[in-house]
Amino acid sequence: MSEINVLEMARQQLAVAAKYLDLDEGLHAVLAQAKRQLVVNFPVVMDDGTVQCFQGYRVQHNTSRGPTKGGLRYHFDVDLDETTALAMWMTWKCAVVNIPYGGAKGGVRVNTKKLSKRELEKLTRRFITEINLVVGERSDIPAPDIGTNPQVMAWIMDTVSMQAGYTVPGCVTGKPLDLGGSEGRVEATGRGVIVSTEEACKVLGLDLSSCRVAVQGFGNVGSVAAQLAEDAGAKVVAVSDATGGIYNPNGLPIRELYQRYSGIDGGVRNHKDADPISNSDLLELDCDILLPCAIQGQLTEDNADRIKAKLIVEGANGPTTPIADQILADKGKLVVPDILANAGGVVTSYFEWVQDLQNFFWEEDQVNDRLSKIMRHAFGAVHETQSRHKTDMRTAAMIIAVQRVAHATTSRGIFP
Ligand code: NAD
Repeated sequence: MSEINVLEMARQQLAVAAKYLDLDEGLHAVLAQAKRQLVVNFPVVMDDGTVQCFQGYRVQHNTSRGPTKGGLRYHFDVDLDETTALAMWMTWKCAVVNIPYGGAKGGVRVNTKKLSKRELEKLTRRFITEINLVVGERSDIPAPDIGTNPQVMAWIMDTVSMQAGYTVPGCVTGKPLDLGGSEGRVEATGRGVIVSTEEACKVLGLDLSSCRVAVQGFGNVGSVAAQLAEDAGAKVVAVSDATGGIYNPNGLPIRELYQRYSGIDGGVRNHKDADPISNSDLLELDCDILLPCAIQGQLTEDNADRIKAKLIVEGANGPTTPIADQILADKGKLVVPDILANAGGVVTSYFEWVQDLQNFFWEEDQVNDRLSKIMRHAFGAVHETQSRHKTDMRTAAMIIAVQRVAHATTSRGIFP
C-alpha cells in the first residue's frame, strides 16, 4: 500500500472545508497547526533491572470550545505527526457532535506485547507524570485508544490523585466503573458506529437486518460494533484483527468470537468453521456494509475501486485516504466519516467527565439514550449539510465542525 502521511491527510480535509466556508487565511493557518505539542523521553526500569528509554507525546490541537480531550495510544508506530493528526480530528469530532471540548491526542512508541503488566504500569505512571505539565481535569482529559484500556486509565487516575493528594476521577475517562467510570463507556464507540450505520441505512433505503457486514479490527470498537450489528439482525460475514481474519458467507458467531478472541490482537483467525481471509481481502469482500475499525490508511488509491460494500462506516480514525474518498464518491459509495461515526466514544467520555465532576452517576439506559440522541442529531445535521452543498459526508461534517470552531475562535477574539 502507498505510504500515507496522516497529518497531510488531515490538513487536506481541512483545506477542502476551508474552501467551502471561505475561511479567513489566518484562521486556516491556525487550525492547520496544533496549539501545543509536548514530546517526552522517559526511562522505565524493566523487570530484568535494565533501563529502557521511551518516547511519548501529548498534542493539544485547539482549545476554543473548551478543555481538550483525546485518547492515549500505545503502539510502536506512534509519532508526532500521527498524534497531531489524531488531535486535529478530535477537535472536529467534538465540534461535529457539539460537545464542549477541543481535540487532543497522546501516545507512547512502544510494543506493549513485549511488556509485562508491571512494566506497562510503570511506563504509564511515569508517562502521565511527564505529561502532567499539560493534562488535568479542567485542561486536557485523556481516554483509551489503541493499546490502552480501563486498567491503564485506572493507573493514570491513581497517579494523578497521588500527586494531588486527593482523588481526581475527572482527570481521565474510560475508567473502570468502580473508579468513576460511566455505564456504557466501553461499548460507546461501537454503539455510535451502529447508530450511524442505522441512520445511513435509512438514507440508502437499506434494511440493516438483511445486510451482510464485514468488520476490520476486533478490538474495543470492532467487536462491539459487530455484536450490535448482529443484534440488529445483520449477518456479520467477516471479522479480523492484526493476525488476520475469517470469513463465512452464512454469518459468524460473533458473541462466541467475542468471548474467545476479543482484545488486542486476540487471534480470531484461530476460529474453526470459517475460511481464513487477509485484512486486505476483507476490505474488498462482497458485502453490503464495511466497518473499518482497526487503524488508519486502509482504503487507499490502491484498493478503493475494488470496494464492493455500498456503505462504509468508519469506526477507526482515518481509515480512508483523500484519493480513496474521491474514488468511493465517484462509485456512489456512502462513507460515514470517522469524525461522526466513531464520536460515540468521546460523547460518552464527556458524560463520564460530567458525572465525575458532579459525583452523580447515571443509569446505563440514560447514557445510551443520550448518546443515541446526540449521534442521530449529528448525523441528521451532516446529512442535511451534505445535501445542501451537494458534497460527501466527510466534507459536510468538516464544514459543520470547522465552522463551529472558527466561530468560537472569532467570538472569543485573538488574545491579547
Ligand atoms: P483496540 O486496540 O481495542 O483494537 C484494535 C483492533 O485492530 C485489534 O483487533 C487489532 O488486532 C486490530 N488491528 C491492529 N492493526 C491492524 C491491522 N494492521 N490490520 C487489521 N487489524 C489490525 O483499539 P480500538 O480502541 O478498538 O480502536 C480501533 C480504532 O478506533 C482506532 O483507529 C482508534 O483510534 C479508533 N477509535 C477508538 C475509540 C475508542 O473509544 N476505543 C474511539 C474513537 C475511535
